[in-house]
Amino acid sequence: MKNKKYDIIIIGSGFAGIASANILAGKGLSILMIDENFHVGGQLLRKIPQELGINKKYKPDYVKKIGNAFVNNLKRDDIEILNNTSVIGIYDNNEILIEIEKKRVASIHYEVILFTTGARERYLPFKGWTIPGVFSAGMSQVLMKSSGVLPSRDVVVGGSGLFLFSAAYEFLNNGAKVRSVLESTGIADKVKMLPVLLHNFSKIMEGARYLGKIGSSGVPIRFNTRIIEARGNGSLEEIVIGKTDRNGKLITGKEKIIKVGGFAYSYGFVPNIELPNLAGCKISFKKELGGWVVDVNENMETSIPGVFCAGEVTGVGGALKSVNEGETASLSILERFEKNGSIHAKKNKLLKERKHHLNFAKYFNTLYGIRDEEISEIPDETIICRCEDVKMGDIREAVSNGFISPGALKTSVRAGMGNCQGRTCGPIIYNLLGSVSGIEGKNFTLFSNRPPVKPVKISSLINRS
Ligand SMILES: Cc1cc2nc3c(=O)[nH]c(=O)nc-3n(C[C@H](O)[C@H](O)[C@H](O)COP(=O)(O)OP(=O)(O)OC[C@H]3O[C@@H](n4cnc5c(N)ncnc54)[C@H](O)[C@@H]3O)c2cc1C
Repeated sequence: MKNKKYDIIIIGSGFAGIASANILAGKGLSILMIDENFHVGGQLLRKIPQELGINKKYKPDYVKKIGNAFVNNLKRDDIEILNNTSVIGIYDNNEILIEIEKKRVASIHYEVILFTTGARERYLPFKGWTIPGVFSAGMSQVLMKSSGVLPSRDVVVGGSGLFLFSAAYEFLNNGAKVRSVLESTGIADKVKMLPVLLHNFSKIMEGARYLGKIGSSGVPIRFNTRIIEARGNGSLEEIVIGKTDRNGKLITGKEKIIKVGGFAYSYGFVPNIELPNLAGCKISFKKELGGWVVDVNENMETSIPGVFCAGEVTGVGGALKSVNEGETASLSILERFEKNGSIHAKKNKLLKERKHHLNFAKYFNTLYGIRDEEISEIPDETIICRCEDVKMGDIREAVSNGFISPGALKTSVRAGMGNCQGRTCGPIIYNLLGSVSGIEGKNFTLFSNRPPVKPVKISSLINRS
């Protein structure tokens, strides 16, 4: 790190981060981009490190080609990039605290900050989801894409959302046998998506690629079907699946057992809002954008002047929405530094395009959100908070005793107190509270965020620079 203060700090180097860095670079501003990953490119452009010596064939699709072009064109002489570095705190005096390479912490100041911290996976717990052999689809994709490791040779993929097809495709490409894809929504819902897809040609191509591979490999897709239970002694041996009605409620008597060694599940993504929340930015519940998101205006500026957000953190909508917002944010930041040139026309074009991305986001977040019926059918003995072993029954009891906010649940049953600091169970608990207590999501206060927002080594804290 060359400086102690930068004009602009970008947190996250996914599509939103790199798209914005490309516009901001070369304008005489000092820019630092930080990411906890080892490479720039975020979730989508993960790749196997050369050191592992695995030469995996890699054919980028249309969206990844756009991302790769951003990465290749990064003006690295004009931007300082810190990889393997986590931002763990943000303070009132335009200061952030970072942990570098898990070795030391340092604080840096900024004039303007841009959060492009992306999203993470959303979970819907079911009986047996903690058995080895049951894993999230995103985790399995990360293992395959970043380490060349196949989590299971024999797998069923299930849950809800478009990512299921991407995960099944990845498993097939890596030589796994995919028994089936279980999709909890119905096929009729997909047909309704066609009008919004017309403005998202890349999504049609992406979907066609996945479905082509799944179809040609003879993998059945079962709609209105979801997992009821995973069973196994020490590791997964079989799953119980069931048919659902159009509201997601299980139809009794339609259960089926599949003997399988791996189950990969996915229920979409939730925005990583913890750092903007800690910074004091206004956060709102918008089901149609994936849950709790950071509020931004047309400049992608949050409720705090000088704090900008772009990409999945403002609403889950795919990589091209992230590019659009990253570019819009950087043009707004240039205006702020009075380096505007001919920005106006470009920004207007981006704002028009953003409407299409938001329409698509609204459609799929509404279709694929977790439904109350799915939550009400979670058995009492199912673990909800994996760090603290808190079960559904504990939560139901606490709620019936009046602990009806995430903070109150945390103090009463310890949900969210563990190592992940509520990143895994938090969104589940917000969903649960809504369903169990009947209180709408927008009326909660979230788990509070405090530094360090991510686990940090004591040795790093001692080595403060
Ligand atoms: C596990 C997973 C797999 C996905 N796979 C696909 C896929 O196959 N196809 C698809 O279309 N979409 C996929 N997505 C959705 C994908 O995230 C978006 O389409 C796109 O990558 C969003 O770009 P972004 O820049 O907004 O966020 P991201 O690409 O997620 O980038 C955010 C970056 O911020 C960094 N970051 C977050 N917090 C911190 C912190 N505190 N300190 C330092 N760095 C931080 C992260 O390391 C990350 O690199 C996936 C999402 C996830 C979570």
